[in-house]
Amino acid sequence: MLFADIADVFDRLETTSSRLEMASILSEFFRTLEPGHLRSIVYLSQGKLHPDFCPQELGMADKLVLRAVASISGTSESRIGELWKKEGDPGRIAEILIKKKEGQMSLFSEPLTLGRVLKNLNLIENAEGRDSQDRKMKYLSQILRDSDPVEARYLCRIVTGRMRVGAGSMTILDALSEAFGTKEDRPDIERAFNITCDLGLVAETLALGGIGRVRLMKVAVANPIKVMLAERLPSIPLILDRMGGRCAMEFKYDGIRVQAHIDRDSVKLYSRRLEDMTSNFPDIAEELRIRCKAERAIIEGECVAVDPKTGGMLPFQTVTHRRKKHGMDKAVEEYPVKIFMFDILLANGTDMTVFPFEERRSKLACTFDISDRVGLTEMEIISTAEEGENFFDRALSMKCEGVMAKSLAPESVYRAGSRGFLWIKYKKDYEESLTDSFDLAVVGAFHGRGKRAGKYGALLMAAFDGESGKYQTVCKLGTGFDDAFLAEMPEMLDRYLSAERPHTVDAQMIPDVWFLPTAVLEVTAAEISLSPIHTAGLGIVKEDTGLGLRFPRFTGRVRDDKGPEECTSVNEVIEMYEMQNQDKE
Ligand code: AMP
Repeated sequence: MLFADIADVFDRLETTSSRLEMASILSEFFRTLEPGHLRSIVYLSQGKLHPDFCPQELGMADKLVLRAVASISGTSESRIGELWKKEGDPGRIAEILIKKKEGQMSLFSEPLTLGRVLKNLNLIENAEGRDSQDRKMKYLSQILRDSDPVEARYLCRIVTGRMRVGAGSMTILDALSEAFGTKEDRPDIERAFNITCDLGLVAETLALGGIGRVRLMKVAVANPIKVMLAERLPSIPLILDRMGGRCAMEFKYDGIRVQAHIDRDSVKLYSRRLEDMTSNFPDIAEELRIRCKAERAIIEGECVAVDPKTGGMLPFQTVTHRRKKHGMDKAVEEYPVKIFMFDILLANGTDMTVFPFEERRSKLACTFDISDRVGLTEMEIISTAEEGENFFDRALSMKCEGVMAKSLAPESVYRAGSRGFLWIKYKKDYEESLTDSFDLAVVGAFHGRGKRAGKYGALLMAAFDGESGKYQTVCKLGTGFDDAFLAEMPEMLDRYLSAERPHTVDAQMIPDVWFLPTAVLEVTAAEISLSPIHTAGLGIVKEDTGLGLRFPRFTGRVRDDKGPEECTSVNEVIEMYEMQNQDKE
């Protein structure tokens, strides 16, 4: 299989902004592929060699890639510098320079096959130790030398972590069901993805065994499961009403969500963003291993920092010391943590996600011995508003954020990857202001003036619309940045610079620079209002009008535990707008 055919499909995807069209380009292409190739191409289309939950180590520094491009094309450093200032994307620079070389290809060049590309990308990924930078450059140069301009564009984007052709996971799932099944199969294909987090595996299973095999896919240790999320409502009586007059209520702990995969003696912990967090919480992994009575289990819980003397819970900022990449030994000693378990998704050979909440909860309770480091979330069955209010007050007095109501209905299964009313959150913030905080993707920036000259002064922020796969803007954010954050911003954001508005961004407000939606920041606001300029929910509440945030403020919390597709959705913004107006009536 020639890499040129794959690059051509990536190129076609990049030049369309319609999700439907992308799905049909992909489905047509998928049908022509061998199942083994399909799997790798699905990963590559997202710039990866493996599923999302495997660490992606390709990340070559821009400078290194530019050095390879310069040496192959015989370009001077100063010319590369000029292009870098203008384009900010090694992929585009490679395309421009390698274009110049077309026609001069050596007689010895070999065709660039998928196999060769994968082999060299794997070599780049695994290069370690002395001279590893030189070797990475060598492996990249070998494939760049035989590539045409479009192939070079994607190779450089893949190795620098910039591969975004616009087809997100949902579009790939659409394409898979179009290629190998029917529209009716789409929910089953999506469920298989939600319980395995492995698009390539789902694609291959579907291509080889059809929808029947996909339906048989089950949760498994070492395949993280997409987390289930909660809806929100503005008061406890409304929650009870929605839950049919009776529900379970749990404390909503303010910590870090962890999904633990326990297999006899080995335990792996994943964040909600599917990163491996085992080295951040080695003490919790070990305690879970000791306390687990099953051979195999997958559980979820919230890790909260605790005061070792009193056992009392400490604020979220304390547990964030455990998210760092280095110095973990010291952090483990200095910041003791306890896990409050709230769900079980696998118990020995049983896929628990299909059981109702109460059965999961009792299974969870009998699968673990409780200790001062491993506990269950505080829980009560509530059937009056007064009981709910008392439980909520108790949660706040224990330094929790609020409560999580959980449905007791027979259909209260674990809905991987979905936000629904089977779980409803109610936080202290809802009492104080009309809205919850928002986790928004940074899609652009405005140059600062006055005291902020030379830095970014404000950011263009967006919510994600899962249906269209687009980021729609909700505010220009310029408040809440301290000096340290202002100084950090370019380093955090510039690697996502985009010469044009990315296809996945819907915006009418035009910033000075655009970013590929990647970084997520937590933002509070006084209110959600109708906006003539922002595009979130455009035309849904009112014709030609979107929704925007009034007085947005950065809380100081960079949500590096969330990917851009996991940020606040446009539907949530609409719901919060409705919730706020309902409250005013
Ligand atoms: P939010 O991030 O505000 O949407 O709230 C959902 C998050 O609350 C989950 O992802 C968990 O990290 C956290 N959480 C805290 N306590 C619980 C609980 N008892 N049940 C479920 N999630 C909880």
